[in-house]
Amino acid sequence: MKEKFKEIENEILNCQKCSLYKTRTNPVVGEGNAQAKIIFCGEAPGYCEDQKGIPFCGAAGNILDELLKSAGIKREEVYIANILKCRPPDNRNPQKEEIESCTPYLERQIKFIKPKVICALGNFSTAYIMEKYGLKDQIQGISKIHGRIFKPSTLFQNIKIIPLYHPAVATYNINMKEVLKNDFKILEKFKKF
Ligand code: URA
Repeated sequence: MKEKFKEIENEILNCQKCSLYKTRTNPVVGEGNAQAKIIFCGEAPGYCEDQKGIPFCGAAGNILDELLKSAGIKREEVYIANILKCRPPDNRNPQKEEIESCTPYLERQIKFIKPKVICALGNFSTAYIMEKYGLKDQIQGISKIHGRIFKPSTLFQNIKIIPLYHPAVATYNINMKEVLKNDFKILEKFKKF
């Protein structure tokens, strides 16, 4: 079964399905526990992630690490991924065709890991994940729905979707760290069941 996860990883590492492979330094597969209860899903790799091939390893990653710690969660207990596996040039927004070609990887990762909770980080990831899980009619801006627990239809068993502010917001506005910390408290009860 582990080979299946490795297979997804190898496909991502060799992916040329959209034009981002031409400008990336490294694809960012995702990192963490393949049996995680919680998956965090960001938008796309930035400069640091592209350089190292590791998700959330720059300034936003430092905030994410701090938030995880504040909720008593170890980074290696969770799985951290992105909507796009390759960095868009100059960190521009992901484009429709990039999302379409890349997200089957994320879906396969989610299917393999079978998490209890998907935390969507920021507006972009929240809109994608909520639509994917049949919650399109409940999508609102992240300032309205952050920290709420959404339960998709029974089709998706017991999975829960929790939209959270993207940790990068706390790099622009330090007050947001407390808001994020407060939202992360909800995760304490999901980390070990
Ligand atoms: N921002 C993201 O959305 N993902 C990363 O991996 C890093 C920064």
